[in-house]
Amino acid sequence: MIIRNAFLALPGRDELVAGELRVQDGKIAEIGVGRALESQGDADIVNAEGLAVLPGAIDAHVHFFDPGYNHKEDFLHGSGASASGGVTTVVDMPDTSEPAAIDAQSIREKLEVVSARSLVDFGFFGGISGLLCDDQLSRRVAEMAPEVLGIKTYATSGSVQFPRVSNHQYYQVLRETRRHNCIVLVHAEDYDYVSGATPGEREHGDGGLAFYRSRPEAAETLSVLTVTEIAEELGAPMHIVHLGTIRAAEIVAKCRFVSGETCPQYLEFDCHDFERIGAPLKITPPVKGPENRAVLLRMLAEGQIDFIASDHAPGTHEEKNTGSIWTDYAGIPGAPTLFPYILSEGYLSGVMGLQRFLEVTSGNPARRYRIADRKGALAEGLDADLVFIDTAGSSVVRGEESFSKGKITPFEGKELRGKVHRTMVRGRTVFDSEHGVMGEPGTGQFLRPDPKLRSAGVQPWRG
Ligand SMILES: [Zn+2]
Repeated sequence: MIIRNAFLALPGRDELVAGELRVQDGKIAEIGVGRALESQGDADIVNAEGLAVLPGAIDAHVHFFDPGYNHKEDFLHGSGASASGGVTTVVDMPDTSEPAAIDAQSIREKLEVVSARSLVDFGFFGGISGLLCDDQLSRRVAEMAPEVLGIKTYATSGSVQFPRVSNHQYYQVLRETRRHNCIVLVHAEDYDYVSGATPGEREHGDGGLAFYRSRPEAAETLSVLTVTEIAEELGAPMHIVHLGTIRAAEIVAKCRFVSGETCPQYLEFDCHDFERIGAPLKITPPVKGPENRAVLLRMLAEGQIDFIASDHAPGTHEEKNTGSIWTDYAGIPGAPTLFPYILSEGYLSGVMGLQRFLEVTSGNPARRYRIADRKGALAEGLDADLVFIDTAGSSVVRGEESFSKGKITPFEGKELRGKVHRTMVRGRTVFDSEHGVMGEPGTGQFLRPDPKLRSAGVQPWRG
């Protein structure tokens, strides 16, 4: 296949450049800049009609609830929603499926189910909870490390099946994961603070502001201080998910072994929006004070926050409308809006240049999770994961039109610059703007970490 008449987002180039791509066996076989590629009997010619062609986005934080909670989401609907928003690779969290992905056996079971459903390539995170920090810890880490792109933990957890990891348990977990050069992901909210503040706030208020006050900036910052201290002391790879607080992000940016992500919801909304919008914006950690949003976007643009992810976790209408903010489900369907949001508010609005935009949407998650040998750039030899964009177009977020089972989005009605026209996974179209989500369920392939990088020993993420 040859893709002609495109403007390519190539590594090291600050502008889109006119060019062509040859795709063979799902890989980018040849890139032609300023010249036409000669047909070598290529069966298909795709005319990009002057659209920008970028590496597909990597969403390294989704909850597709598969298997087990398919009334909320499944891998077909989740991955289709991702594809509609220019995402070609997702990494699924371990705690929101049944069985939870906590050892080799449960990962095999999950893989069998979702392999038949995914439209985009996918990896898994394994899980370690406070319950599993026993003599089985080293066995579980050893058997999961080659299969998963990281291991997810909660410093504060709302889930009975997946309890929090205490500070001493973090030390035990990180000592094991470092031996296998496996990255530990942390949901960072301080347990002491949250469990102490919640009863009083719950008694006195039932809105977004009350919920926010039960887990404010200090709750995130204290947890990030604690867990990063342990990771830095041990020299163990760690990643802080969904950063929403300036101070917490600043701490992560100074670490050598710790990386961090944020999500569009922390860039777009604050606690006053939460008070106004209510449950459709309920997430944990909650959105924070209004001073954070613009600074977090700038930190993402300037390299202090490493990448962006969706934390896609939809709730049903019933789960989102229980009658109290304290019991309403915490989570939003972010998969279809992740890439369109940052395309609009980051790149097309001029907050970040093209290279930084590519790093935060694909290059950095690919490097961090050791899949950069296949993913994360338009380069010869890598997978032909492509998103075609009309940079002059626009779109409006409509939850009802989403391919996801989750229709309740805080981004409802948001106008975004730019429009995704086509998404290809290894050269196969899984979405186009004319037909919508397409392709065979099961198109997506399972991604393990590059074994060469894993066995090369722990390297600092920064400096
Ligand atoms: Zn999450």
